[in-house]
Amino acid sequence: MFDSLSDRLSGVFDKLRGRGALSEADVRAAMREVRVALLEADVALPVAREFVEDVTERAVGEEVVRSVTPGQMVVKIVNDALVELLGAESAELELNTAPPAVIMMVGLQGSGKTTTTAKIAKRLTEKDRKKVMMASLDVARPAAQEQLAVLGEKAGVDTLPIVAGQTPTDIAKRALQAAKLQGYDVLMLDTAGRLHVDTQLMDEMKAVAGASNPTETLLVVDSLTGQDAVNVAKGFGTEVPLTGVVLTRMDGDARGGAALSMRKVTGKPIKFAGTGEGLDALEPFHPDRVAGRILGMGDVVSLVEKAAETVKVEDAEKLAKKMEKGKFDLDDLRLQIKQMKAMGGLGALAKMMPGMKGMKQAGDVDDKALTRLEAMMSSMTAEERQKPKLINAKRKIRIAKGSGTTVQEVNKLLKMHQQMETAMKKLKKMGGFSKLAAMFGG
Ligand code: GDP
Repeated sequence: MFDSLSDRLSGVFDKLRGRGALSEADVRAAMREVRVALLEADVALPVAREFVEDVTERAVGEEVVRSVTPGQMVVKIVNDALVELLGAESAELELNTAPPAVIMMVGLQGSGKTTTTAKIAKRLTEKDRKKVMMASLDVARPAAQEQLAVLGEKAGVDTLPIVAGQTPTDIAKRALQAAKLQGYDVLMLDTAGRLHVDTQLMDEMKAVAGASNPTETLLVVDSLTGQDAVNVAKGFGTEVPLTGVVLTRMDGDARGGAALSMRKVTGKPIKFAGTGEGLDALEPFHPDRVAGRILGMGDVVSLVEKAAETVKVEDAEKLAKKMEKGKFDLDDLRLQIKQMKAMGGLGALAKMMPGMKGMKQAGDVDDKALTRLEAMMSSMTAEERQKPKLINAKRKIRIAKGSGTTVQEVNKLLKMHQQMETAMKKLKKMGGFSKLAAMFGG
């Protein structure tokens, strides 16, 4: 996400940070580069212009020039301005109405609307414990309704049974009735897409909105289309009262122009970002965290939240207890690797860690390495995992065969574990984890 923009900006800021003092001319020169970076990222021209004017005005103030770390101050000012540009606070879904709350999904064909409908439904079901029903109103595209049914099955979300020959408004009414009778909290309506914004589509959307009275009307747009995405949002926004935007394909968006211009140009908040094809690849859009990512400061908060979501509390506690005693066997290592994979693998972790952006290329390779480590440990007996010293040369050959690896790799794994065990023991001698935590102010 935002990789090329992020690289450009860090180039500008590195130059600033290296200096002891900054003159007004230095700041202005840097801001001209920021402006070029934004335009290259496909940010709408008026947005880029206003942004740079605003930041320059704040940055050439005495504060920065007199500050002991002027470079840092400029970065902070840009960061704050980015957060404002992206929408200041995160926008949550508003579902506080008498059930069922209706979420109408609109957008052009191929924007990722149907996938996003299923992603949001899954999220509401799993995270918010809502009872969700989805219905496809797309009677124009053959098999659109079946596609949603298949996604529903995958996501574990109910879909409205398909009845052939109904109009979109009829389906919306039937869905609302069914959701009411069967006690659903949320009804998601996936409307038909078109190749471009046209009056027929808008009329259909208005009719559906009239029949279902949605609490949320979310527009799905493809972030890769840059300024077109913003124009599509403007087009839809003048016809139907949008409550928010979902930007898809952010995983492939190195430039970020759509994300940066959307709020300012359309006045609509970005509520979610689609970050992949899988049904879990959806993130609430947090302006502060996104700004941090763009400026290469990583996204530590998202990382911590992800960890809390995926790592089972009991597992983590069990591990901490053992480690506190200075114990760390291969079962523990296996658990750690499982947790790392659950969090999206090394590649995903590296991207979110400050200062680790350069590591992302290594991501794929390393994730494979994790899988191989896991396979080796699964080929061991439980006894061997608890007492790795039992593993002799003959067993190493068996383990390598059983896991599709080599004896060298098994040796490497055992050595790695030994080093970790030694580190744990040292830590225990130093007074254990509580002491360590105290050192960090915990
Ligand atoms: P619709 O025509 O708007 O309903 O689009 P679909 O939901 O059928 O999506 C079109 C394609 O885009 C599918 O192959 C999806 O898997 C893919 N897609 C949707 N959202 C994302 C995303 O956030 N990232 C990526 N990489 N692919 C996505």
